[in-house]
Amino acid sequence: MEQPIYVARSSMPPLEEYVEEIRPLWDTHMLTNMGAKHQALEAALAQYLEVENLSLFVNGHLALEMVLQAMQLKGEVITTPFTFISTTHAILRNGLTPVFCDIREDDFTIDASKLESLITESTAAILPVHVYGNLCEIERIEAIAKKHHLPVIYDAAHAFGVRYRDQGAGSFGDVSMFSFHATKVFNTIEGGAVCFRDAALKERLHQLKNFGIQGPEEVVAVGGNAKMNEFQAAMGLCNLRHLDAEIERRRAVFKRYCSALENVPGLRLPHLQKDTQPNYAYYPILVQDAFGASRDEVFDALAKNNIHARKYFYPPTNEHPCVQERLTAPAATPVAAGISRQVLTLPIYADLPLAEVDRIAATVRSARV
Ligand SMILES: *Cc1c(COP(=O)(O)O)cnc(C)c1O
Repeated sequence: MEQPIYVARSSMPPLEEYVEEIRPLWDTHMLTNMGAKHQALEAALAQYLEVENLSLFVNGHLALEMVLQAMQLKGEVITTPFTFISTTHAILRNGLTPVFCDIREDDFTIDASKLESLITESTAAILPVHVYGNLCEIERIEAIAKKHHLPVIYDAAHAFGVRYRDQGAGSFGDVSMFSFHATKVFNTIEGGAVCFRDAALKERLHQLKNFGIQGPEEVVAVGGNAKMNEFQAAMGLCNLRHLDAEIERRRAVFKRYCSALENVPGLRLPHLQKDTQPNYAYYPILVQDAFGASRDEVFDALAKNNIHARKYFYPPTNEHPCVQERLTAPAATPVAAGISRQVLTLPIYADLPLAEVDRIAATVRSARV
């Protein structure tokens, strides 16, 4: 049987390049606590993303959790249920209440036309997700947020490298969080960052990710430990050099799926957004009734061939009991519920051979009875 194919495969630089990058650590013995590699990566990412303020974290989840804490929000946060559970957990773990807004049929991002009716006296922020790297309706969300004086925090975990018109994905809203987990388009093994408009957040985030420590004898906040270490930062410095070429190769995989799966009744393929430079992070298909096999049957047919697609994102986060028991007035999100029962994300990464893409597409097609 062929080698297993997973939904993602971590990008890694040539070993020699990484060894050169970490060699100085053997001289300095500075392995963490915002060392030279950390500083270099922070600067390189601010430049790549074209943002003023950026703060690195040990992972994307803690970046989101701590930026919510730093903003000192209280009450309700309007968000999407069609995301990785991290988004919802970050809200709940800050003692905030998620209020779920339904999503759009076409790109699965939060439905801005349904946002305003969910705003109450208790609303503290809006937390949408650029899911699969599809950008939210940035301008509409911005207008609503301005009118109601609410901050917008984007979960941009999927959107590293995505651009809209002439702006990078990190420059929208008040805050954007990126994840650099091993399975993401750009990785630091584990890692994450937040970009933010208010420069005052920089020092607060610096404190929070280091136990709230301000000086040797002074602790000014109840923080945690969420520092990115030097080995992670070194991995990021290497991977960043190869990123644009990797995204280009992802593009070839994405296009190959599109041509291999086009015009199949009952299969809905992803389409690229207008005025947007994508990062080809995911290849989500919808398996609809007309296809003649269910999403789960397609998933099983692939698994039988050692191809491991993922049901991202099933179920929606607002269907988990541990989330439901924390909601005050649960509103229905039927679009998210429906999409999550049809969606399947197919393997996509830079070095997935196009012949394998053809084989995966053929296996999908042959799953129908
Ligand atoms: C990956 C991911 C996160 C969390 O990032 P980690 O770096 O794994 O902690 C948050 N939100 C979304 C949508 C993600 O896909």
